[in-house]
Amino acid sequence: MSAFNFSDLAKNLLLKQKENWEQCNNGYDSLNSVQDKIFSFDSFTIKVQFNPGRIVSTAAKVDTKSISERRCFLCRENLPQQQNSIEYIDNFLILCNPFPIFPEHFTLPSIEHTQQNIKNSFSVFLDFTKDLSKYYSVFYNGPKCGASAPDHLHFQAGSKYFMTIEKEFESVKAAHGKKIFEASDVEVNSIDDGLRKFISIEGTSKKTLENVFEKFFNCYSIFNYSEPEPMLNIIGFYENETWRIIIFLRAKHRPSHFFAEGDKQIILSPASVDVGGVCITPLEKDFEKITQDHLREIFWEIFLTKEESNLFAKKLVSALQS
Ligand SMILES: [Zn+2]
Repeated sequence: MSAFNFSDLAKNLLLKQKENWEQCNNGYDSLNSVQDKIFSFDSFTIKVQFNPGRIVSTAAKVDTKSISERRCFLCRENLPQQQNSIEYIDNFLILCNPFPIFPEHFTLPSIEHTQQNIKNSFSVFLDFTKDLSKYYSVFYNGPKCGASAPDHLHFQAGSKYFMTIEKEFESVKAAHGKKIFEASDVEVNSIDDGLRKFISIEGTSKKTLENVFEKFFNCYSIFNYSEPEPMLNIIGFYENETWRIIIFLRAKHRPSHFFAEGDKQIILSPASVDVGGVCITPLEKDFEKITQDHLREIFWEIFLTKEESNLFAKKLVSALQS
C-alpha cells in the first residue's frame, strides 16, 4: 500500500476512536489544558510542557520484576475492548495512544510479544517512517531509554514537526554537525549541540540506510555496551523522498533530578520526545520550577560526554569506511 493510505487510515482511526472510546476522547481533551514554556539555545529551542495526563507513563516502573508482574498492555488480547487497530505489514499494528503527548499520537506494536530490539526491526522502522510521513514522524525508545513496555517490541508515531528538532535539524546540523561519511545516496553526521549528542543518517535508499545502520549498531554496541542493547532513542522523519534518522547517544535513562528528594526533585523521564525537544513534566510544580540550567544538567547527565561522543564518531568513521 502507498504512503498515502496508511497515513490516512491512521488519521481516520483516531477520528473514530475519539467518537467511540471515551478514555481516548478524554485523553485528547486533556491536551487542551497543556501549558508550554520555551527555552532558546544558540541554534535550537527546547519546549517544556506540563501534561498531567502523562504521569502514568513518566513514572512507570520498568524494572524486570514490575514488568513481569503486569499484564502486557500491548498484547492484542489485553487491549481495551473499545480499542480498534489497523494491521500493518510485517505483523505490526497501528493503535491510538489514549494518553497522548502529540495532537495525534499512535503506538505501533508488533503483533508478537517479543522484546524491544532495534537491530531486528530497523527495516520496519524505515517502512513506518515512510508510510506514515504524510502527517507523522516515527520514534523508538530503547528498552532502557524510556520504553514503558520494554518487553513488547513497539514504535510510536506523532504529528509531524511537533518535536522541535524536526524543524530545527538543518540549523543544528549547520551550527554543530560534523560530516563523518558521505556516499552518493547517504550522508552521516555527528552532532553535539551543547546539550545533546547524536548521529544523523540521511538518505534516499532503504537498503543503504539499513547497511549504514547495521555498521553503526555494531560499532555502538561495542562502544556503549549494555544489555539487552546499547542505550539510544531514534526519531525518523521522511520528506522529499529522503529519510532523516536521528540517533541519540544515551548514557543514562533517568537523571539524578528524577530521584532527588523534596524541592530538588524534578519528575522528567527523558525519552525520544523529550530529547527531540519537548520535555514533558506531568507535575505542575516541576513545570513552574524548571530552568534552562536544569535542562543543561539533565541533558548532560543522560547523554554520552563530549569526549565520548568525539571518540565514538572516530570509531564510526572507520566502521563506515570498512
Ligand atoms: Zn505484549
